Amino acid sequence: MNPLIEKALARPYNLEHDELAALLSLDDPTELFDAAYRLKCRYVGKSVSLRGLVELGNNCAKNCFYCGIRRENRNVSRYHLSEEDVIRMAHWSFLQNYGSVVLQSGELESEENTEYIERILKGIRSFGGDRFGITLCLGEQTEEVYRRWHDAGAHRYLLRIESSVPELYARLHPADHSYARRVECLKILKKLGYQTGSGVMIGLPEQTIDHLARDIAFFHEMDLDMIGMGPYIPHRDTPLGKEIECTPEYAARQLDLGLKMIAVTRLYLHDVNIAATTALQALDGRGRERGILAGANVMMPNVTDTEYRKQYQLYANKPCLDENSAKCRNCLNRRIVSIGETINWGQRGDSPHYRQNRKNR
Ligand code: SAH
Ligand code: SF4
Repeated sequence: MNPLIEKALARPYNLEHDELAALLSLDDPTELFDAAYRLKCRYVGKSVSLRGLVELGNNCAKNCFYCGIRRENRNVSRYHLSEEDVIRMAHWSFLQNYGSVVLQSGELESEENTEYIERILKGIRSFGGDRFGITLCLGEQTEEVYRRWHDAGAHRYLLRIESSVPELYARLHPADHSYARRVECLKILKKLGYQTGSGVMIGLPEQTIDHLARDIAFFHEMDLDMIGMGPYIPHRDTPLGKEIECTPEYAARQLDLGLKMIAVTRLYLHDVNIAATTALQALDGRGRERGILAGANVMMPNVTDTEYRKQYQLYANKPCLDENSAKCRNCLNRRIVSIGETINWGQRGDSPHYRQNRKNR
């Protein structure tokens, strides 16, 4: 076996920067993926946890250079789901035994939005109790807002750092978007007791293997519980994506790097939850299954009503645009069974890292 893989398997956080970079650069990642998959099985078994993904709305105050629903993209028709609709979609996920939901949207900081989310959280808690997981992915907010949402029943939060390298972050965002605030938000989320997740986009223009190795070290420095990361996929209506052509060769390279990041992150951190994100599937029909076989253990089937899905395109080629949620459920189940895994039905699927940290406290 590759001695670096052996070293990584021995215990978490056991690789130096150059060793992380060397694993990310392997020409043949077969052994890397196999080892990461075995490690995933050691921590969570041959099972995949699900979160029903509700895309609440595509209004966003921000203008990230890579994202299809950025404020200045005039080609998007904007929508905002009613509380009743969101609660209905979450309830459907509950009845399907998904075990948890993720509520995601563009970033809005207003009292109106804070209260809207509070009411939704209370509505979901009223049928889901404590056993149904609720993750928020609603961008940067003040400590007060994060606290209110935590009090109302949210217990996980996903906020990607996008790139942990400040110079690269600055090239991806307008000048008024702050790397420091994003890091500060992650610290606040942890302090408030959320299971905290972050991640990066992989294969960004001007991103190097060295940057990606630093990202993995950042995940450890921030003591994250969950990792949600996926390949960058160009969107033609964005400043970053308008000149990049997503050829089959480009897609294959993005996918390969995305899978390697999952595997090396698993080998470095060991006990976190890692999502096989939909962006993987946008590049390859079997992308998410391949993510699981490279060490991920979470999938997020879309449960948003079909009519809204087209308006929530952060990147091009988003899959399942014409599928309804029931079809997605059956398709996902088939896919998971096809790789010899089972679904962790009805379980919140908390991060083993978070559970361990709580025990040690
Ligand atoms: N507004 C919130 C949540 C929605 S965006 C936030 O920004 O945190 C969720 C994620 O979509 C972002 O964190 C980003 O990593 C990802 N994303 C946006 N545009 C993308 C693209 N072109 N390719 C791949 N991922 C993208
Ligand atoms: Fe808005 Fe999030 Fe897209 Fe940035 S990545 S433009 S914050 S939805």
